[in-house]
Amino acid sequence: MPDPPDLIHDLASLAGANVGRDMHAFMAELYPICRSISGAGLRETLNAIGERIPLEISEVPTGTEVFDWTIPREWNVREAWVRGPDGEKVVDFCDSNLHVVSYSTPVHRKLSLEDLQEHLFSLPEHPEWIPYRTSYYREFWGFCLAHRQREALAAGTYEVFIDSTLEDGSLSYAECVLPGRSDEEILVSCHTCHPSTCNDNLSGVALVTFLASLLRELPLRYTYRFLFNPGGIGSIAWLSRNEERLERIRHGLVAVCVGDPGSLTYKRSRRENADVDRAALHVLERSGADHQVIDFSPYGYDERNFSSPAFDLPVGSLSRSTHTRYAEYHTSADDLDFVRPEFLADSLEKYLSIIEVLEQNRRYLSLSPKGEPQLGKRGLYAPMGGLQDRFASEVAMLWILNYADGHHDLLDVARKSRLEMADLHSAAVALCEHGLLEELG
Ligand code: ZN
Repeated sequence: MPDPPDLIHDLASLAGANVGRDMHAFMAELYPICRSISGAGLRETLNAIGERIPLEISEVPTGTEVFDWTIPREWNVREAWVRGPDGEKVVDFCDSNLHVVSYSTPVHRKLSLEDLQEHLFSLPEHPEWIPYRTSYYREFWGFCLAHRQREALAAGTYEVFIDSTLEDGSLSYAECVLPGRSDEEILVSCHTCHPSTCNDNLSGVALVTFLASLLRELPLRYTYRFLFNPGGIGSIAWLSRNEERLERIRHGLVAVCVGDPGSLTYKRSRRENADVDRAALHVLERSGADHQVIDFSPYGYDERNFSSPAFDLPVGSLSRSTHTRYAEYHTSADDLDFVRPEFLADSLEKYLSIIEVLEQNRRYLSLSPKGEPQLGKRGLYAPMGGLQDRFASEVAMLWILNYADGHHDLLDVARKSRLEMADLHSAAVALCEHGLLEELG
């Protein structure tokens, strides 16, 4: 059986146009669903993911205390519209689920345009786009619409109708667990709570689903936990129910905004130089692609909860454009045209590459540390693994042997030697087989 890390490498090279197209098609399937932090749309999304990968769905009842928060009432909406003075519908939830403010309370009344304006949201700077707005923790109702449409509203009496419910129910999240040889875990999470928005929300959902689907066939070193949760409150609920297992998490990534044309952005973990940070930087630097690295900040997505001081999990985040860097963010323009198959595939390939590095990275102890060991008498001068060149094989072995001091890991050696992790890993395996190295983990 081939060594698992090489299989991951093969999968990464396969993550080309077809994978990107399939990810995009999956997003198109999920796009029309009206998701929120609870409710039928969220469950329908988790069920669709569950058709592709093994998934365990958890429900956290309304009113449950999760650290400093309380699980809110469950929100569901069936119909929402605004009729103008002439009786025509001027805004209709059927046309776009972004038209209704998420968690809007039910309403059916008539009111003047002036009073209606207090419940309307639009973007003067982008008059054709519908904004995405929520009101999870304040009882409110409202509509979002294109500014051009809002400006055309005539004076008069309007009728508003939102057929929604806010009732005791539950908040849903889901996990896919792929057991590895070790019970040490790699956590990959995404948020699943936005309605029809693509880069922010569905691109991460597609990436994590496909990542799990590709990895599930492989013999893996780590156990993988893929988490699909409503942003914010969902990760807090998951943390509160899994405190006892958190110490198993060795590395983590939050997948968001991975389908737009922007260059890759890696946000460091709060620990700043955790293994996942070093692995991500190694992959991005070796890719030769434009990228940027930003420091941790307690703003953004669920990394802020995973990295809260009681947990301080080593969780970074790899995105393309971050949410503050693209105008389409939280608007109807963050749609299926804004995310492209080639960028989804490229992001997936980078996630697979980071995972490959983490799977391969180890510390070793030389069992012949006094002077350079004699490789020739052990038959180690033959080319091996990906290194067909005898000299390159030897160089890789010498680098590893010299840094096999129990302190440096293969990522350190890769950075110093500028050799590929996969080649160093192959060399280390050969050295272990010949009794020159001991694996420390
Ligand atoms: Zn968002």
